[in-house]
Amino acid sequence: MPYCQMKTAPTPIAVTHTEGVYLHLADGRRLIDGLASWWSACHGYNHPHIRAAMHRQIDAMSHVMFGGVNHEPASNLARRLAAILPGDLDRVFFSDSGSVAVEVAMKMALQYYRNRGDRGRTRFVSFANAYHGDTTGAMSLCDPDRSMHAAFGAALLQQTSLPLPNDAAALERFDDHLSRHRSELAGVFVEPLVQGAGGMRFHSPQTLAAISEACARHGVLLIADELATGFGRTGTMFAVEQAQIVPDILCLGKALTAGAVGLAATVATERVFRAFWSDDPGSALMHGPTFMANPLACAAAGASLDLFEREPRLEQVAKIERELRRGLEPCRHLPRVVDVRVKGAIGVVQVDSLDHVDRLRQAFVDRGVWIRPFGDCIYLTPPLVVAPDQLRQLTEAIVAVTEQWAAWSV
Ligand SMILES: *Cc1c(COP(=O)(O)O)cnc(C)c1O
Repeated sequence: MPYCQMKTAPTPIAVTHTEGVYLHLADGRRLIDGLASWWSACHGYNHPHIRAAMHRQIDAMSHVMFGGVNHEPASNLARRLAAILPGDLDRVFFSDSGSVAVEVAMKMALQYYRNRGDRGRTRFVSFANAYHGDTTGAMSLCDPDRSMHAAFGAALLQQTSLPLPNDAAALERFDDHLSRHRSELAGVFVEPLVQGAGGMRFHSPQTLAAISEACARHGVLLIADELATGFGRTGTMFAVEQAQIVPDILCLGKALTAGAVGLAATVATERVFRAFWSDDPGSALMHGPTFMANPLACAAAGASLDLFEREPRLEQVAKIERELRRGLEPCRHLPRVVDVRVKGAIGVVQVDSLDHVDRLRQAFVDRGVWIRPFGDCIYLTPPLVVAPDQLRQLTEAIVAVTEQWAAWSV
């Protein structure tokens, strides 16, 4: 089990099937999924359109190697992603998980400078409370004080973690760091607008724009990790749109296939791509996962994009945002709650410190909802198709259970 002391953890809940916003349990109960399986099931589960596309694809070809081979599901998907991503983010490299998409972005940035004859640029900057994945390269970009660093310590690559430039002083520090260290920097990684697993923290489009401007001014690549924020979650198709910026590299995953099957993508601008376009085999991008551009996953992702085109998902996100604000507001007055915040289809109740976690999670299951508090947050990232009464059941559960929980410790 993930991130789990298996000796002491409660028995995991047996799920037999999923449908719409529901997880169906082996004991006959069903839970409304308040997490959309870690941000991914944006159209709910088992959507008939995605299922049909996957059935067709599995009959034709579920997988073929991507070395020296191409196929329609991949080339169509790459074209469609390029068309909806901002600016000239047009060059797509597929992989099988978000962490690997981040590793590919790191390698792309390193080789970008190397291919231009600049061999000194080997380090990255990321921000306090960042989370960029679980593989060793991606881990080195996570907040060193709030992540799994403690378990791996000196074995990790050494990067620089800076406070998010939310105010003038932090912006000056960020700018100053880029100015002094640009000759050793290969890129700046940011989770645009919402930092996910490192604490569900939000920043403004102005902060994101300021990061982008500083990177451009000092000639350091900006890499946007949209693994969690991509595909409508923050109210726009991609979070970077709200700051009107075009990062040099952007990572996608999670909701890319609407949670149907694993797939991720690292997308580069034309300028980054050009640094690899050469007669020298040594300047090729040195990466190639076995299941790269898996046709079944690409077909699911294409069907998910159809749904974003045909159905009013972003309007649904705006409605979810209003309902989350209204529904979670009563938490603000509960003991031990330090903040309530909402952005798009993300609702967060931050508490002073999370204790009785297993009992808390069980209390949600007993109320028919799937919500898993972690860190210092009790949060919702529901499927974007959640109905008003289902969403109300989720927010009412958070208000009631958080109130009970606050009394457990006194
Ligand atoms: C989930 C996530 C990742 C890692 O993706 P996996 O598919 O779990 O490897 C990286 N960055 C962010 C911001 C994420 O939310």
